[in-house]
Amino acid sequence: MRYMERGVARPSGYVEATRGCLHTCRHCPVVPIYNGRFFVVPAELVMEDIRQQVAAGAEHITFGDPDFLNGPGHAMNRATTPCRVPICYL
Ligand code: SF4
Repeated sequence: MRYMERGVARPSGYVEATRGCLHTCRHCPVVPIYNGRFFVVPAELVMEDIRQQVAAGAEHITFGDPDFLNGPGHAMNRATTPCRVPICYL
């Protein structure tokens, strides 16, 4: 996966800090699987996943959680943990 930064394609990684979602929006494909449940991925697993992708060449990490703010404390900890690469949230 690559992302564009000022016209340059850079290798990009992808992680999820949570699975599922607390909400049950009727249009959403997450709901039939999780039905309003969500699960936190342990912080050390998330960070190890990021470290491995950076070691493999990722220059950017995207968080693809269905709803990153289902777990506000967990989300804030992930968002404020020092990281060597830029991050974004889908
Ligand atoms: S992931 Fe988004 S659209 Fe889907 S149920 Fe959660 S809040 Fe609604």
